[in-house]
Amino acid sequence: MGTVFVINSGSSSIKYQMVNPRLEGDDAIIATGLVDQIGQPIGKYTLQHDGVKTERIAEIPDHAEGLRMVEDLFTEVGLDLDEQNIVAVGHRIVQGGNVFDKPTLIDDKVVEQIDELSSLAPLHNPAHVIGIKVARKLMPNVPHVAVFDTAFFADLPTATRTYPIPQEVAEKYGIRRYGAHGTSHEYVSQQVPELLNRDPDTLRQIVLHLGNGASVSAIKCRKPIDTSMGLTPLQGLVMGTRCGDIDPSVVFHLMRTAGMTVDEVDHLFNRESGMKALIGSNDMRHLDEMIKARDPRGLEAFKIYVTRIKHYIGAYMAELGGVDVITFTAGIGENSEWIREGATDGLGELGIKLDPERNAGHITEPRIISSEDSKVIVMVVPTNEELAIARQALEFV
Ligand code: ADP
Repeated sequence: MGTVFVINSGSSSIKYQMVNPRLEGDDAIIATGLVDQIGQPIGKYTLQHDGVKTERIAEIPDHAEGLRMVEDLFTEVGLDLDEQNIVAVGHRIVQGGNVFDKPTLIDDKVVEQIDELSSLAPLHNPAHVIGIKVARKLMPNVPHVAVFDTAFFADLPTATRTYPIPQEVAEKYGIRRYGAHGTSHEYVSQQVPELLNRDPDTLRQIVLHLGNGASVSAIKCRKPIDTSMGLTPLQGLVMGTRCGDIDPSVVFHLMRTAGMTVDEVDHLFNRESGMKALIGSNDMRHLDEMIKARDPRGLEAFKIYVTRIKHYIGAYMAELGGVDVITFTAGIGENSEWIREGATDGLGELGIKLDPERNAGHITEPRIISSEDSKVIVMVVPTNEELAIARQALEFV
């Protein structure tokens, strides 16, 4: 039985998982870990296997050395990589642009194309290219497969993928709604009809992926018809450090009146905004604490966060002509009962009612959280992007 190695390479980090794609949920994860602070004087790399986390501190000069150190760590914990029967490597790629609309077997040309899409994802695609190059060297005898965050949304209808700017400009510069988190939205929206034993071809779904990055999608009969992320993952919901929807004029205003540069505004919106700007932390556990303490700043931030979600629930119900199932997923969606409650509070008139007992606590298994008399089913379905990537990579074996 083969395993799949899944890699998510960032500019100074590599997240990885070794997955058994034939198992479900957490059972599928054989090992998981992180190489962090690559290129810094002090870096860290970890491996978690069988509930035991092994961590090493060392200088990690580059991505290639980082992966090699991980290989040694596997051997150290008795999981020699050569004996794990790795049959494929799946690479998570943020931006596939108009070029890639499905998982793709990686060759030199594909690497070049992913690199060429860097202007649309300057923080991500160049780092993915480095990850692909070092992983192909380390594991040269198995297929490497690129799985794109944008692919699920490649065929969005014109009405929702088009930005109303001169279309020759849009075309020349590849400006459209690409969306992101597609692997998660696809995985969760496929799980829902299976779990409910419903026909996916009749189901109208809204999926709320609320993690550090957050996005929402509207899915009609298996196909996404809208999603909140746009040209980049900056658009849409309020996120950990990203502002989400904002009047584009704020950019001009800051450049003209505050004398900020493009890079400074980019940094402000992507790294210093969202919950970090509102409560000083991008971790929702901090917000939970503030709400428990009735901290006014926390309560305000909570309102801002959930109001944006409600805005999208309303909009997507209108676009879908109603909704059958709303599903929460990812770190916040699975763990924060406050947010799930706040995002659906007062929507009884729209047929959306939670059951407080079902909604309580951290939810690690798929569960319905709406009340018996709720017209719309509300669920929590834990996402598993790595498993979805591994399964897609396996198709090339
Ligand atoms: P990403 O993959 O985008 O980094 P995740 O889906 O792992 O994000 O979600 C991470 C976020 O989930 C954290 O930033 C934190 O805000 C939130 N989170 C994790 N655990 C809890 C919890 N117990 N209660 C509330 N929020 C939580």
